[in-house]
Amino acid sequence: AKKLGRNNFQFYTPAMNEESLERVRIEGALRNALERDEFVLYYQPQLDIKTGKVVGMEALLRWQHPELGMVPPGRFISIAEETGLIVPIGAWVMRTACAQNKAWQDAGFDKLRVAVNLSARQFGAPDLIEGLEAVLKDTGMEPKYLEIELTESLFMSDITPAVDLLHRMKALGVSLSIDDFGTGYSSLSYLSRFPIDVLKIDRSFVADITRDANDEAIVTSIIALAHNLKLAVIAEGVETAEQLDYLRRHGCDEMQGYYFSRPLANAQFEQLLREGRGL
Ligand code: C2E
Ligand code: CA
Ligand code: CA
Ligand code: CA
Repeated sequence: AKKLGRNNFQFYTPAMNEESLERVRIEGALRNALERDEFVLYYQPQLDIKTGKVVGMEALLRWQHPELGMVPPGRFISIAEETGLIVPIGAWVMRTACAQNKAWQDAGFDKLRVAVNLSARQFGAPDLIEGLEAVLKDTGMEPKYLEIELTESLFMSDITPAVDLLHRMKALGVSLSIDDFGTGYSSLSYLSRFPIDVLKIDRSFVADITRDANDEAIVTSIIALAHNLKLAVIAEGVETAEQLDYLRRHGCDEMQGYYFSRPLANAQFEQLLREGRGL
């Protein structure tokens, strides 16, 4: 038999065992999380950089498990995707986000947009369009206030069915954005063929705009690209006044990030609306 190098034994380290154990534990708990009502949505404000006003929010999933505590999306979203659990969980997110946004509108606050993340598994599910239609109808949410965040990974394989699906989503009246723009591997050609409304600049580029000339070049290029294609552009992960100032000077339309606010629980978001706080 061929002699194996020491690196071939890396799968058997105790750390790996613990990692897969934790995975199994999370996967098991995740199967019951919906029916046990353990999920909650947080909302992170999105602001118009010119007017300084809150114009929207991104719904972000949180999982409060009785023993594991608050489990961050980084630890369970990929497991939910691999197991397909993201499909029912994502449907719950869509319905809850729309219902909450409509409730705030009905309470008399300025009408805001709510952005919801859609995973590739949901995009491929057979009843996506029917599901969206049902949520809009049941919650009474006007479709123009719903924005669906997609990632470039959706467009990597065979793009023809994707184009068709995007057009059917657009036909419902919702808007579509590309999340984490610039981090995927797909070609830019889809931008001219797909009915996209918004590009979201990934926070990895925003993080160093005031220090790294390459990231500056990427961010200003994305803003120019978006505007040339008549798309709006939003920067995520804005943490400092310097970053915001840079984005403002370069004509970025909207911002989202800890500089203004972290994702907030319902009550805190409502408090923000009541105070009418802005940039
Ligand atoms: P994402 O869609 O790119 O969401 C933005 C993430 O950046 C959020 O992390 C948010 O809390 C974080 N963030 C916002 N502003 C800042 C900032 O100024 N600095 C830093 N360092 N981070 C900031 P979160 O909530 O942990 O979510 C992580 C990822 O999990 C999301 O990335 C998204 O891919 C996924 N996710 C969250 N909720 C859902 C969901 O309902 N459905 C699906 N499919 N994925 C979701
Ligand atoms: Ca997102
Ligand atoms: Ca993002
Ligand atoms: Ca991201």
